Amino acid sequence: MKRLYRFSPWQRIDAAIWRDRLEQEGIPCILRNEELFAALGEIPFLELQPELWVVDDEMLPRAERLLDHWQEATEQPPWRCPNCGEEHEGMFDACWQCGRRRDDD
Ligand SMILES: [Zn+2]
Repeated sequence: MKRLYRFSPWQRIDAAIWRDRLEQEGIPCILRNEELFAALGEIPFLELQPELWVVDDEMLPRAERLLDHWQEATEQPPWRCPNCGEEHEGMFDACWQCGRRRDDD
């Protein structure tokens, strides 16, 4: 088991989302510290840094690539589809309404 990423305490939501997405990609992983927070509820919030661990060491490089890709995507600004005018979060590459891709001209 290898640690993939250590999140900042305020990234707890991201941590849970990424865990789910990695599992959807067939990469079993575990979120540490998160359970602790839920169970105790008494630990100072700022001391808890959720950590994402990949169960199978051999899957670590692939998990790292996916994470890099998602991190880049979440830093993209929201955009409006030039075709139908629908607004989208930066993490989406294509319009869910009409299927047009963001990078199409
Ligand atoms: Zn559209």
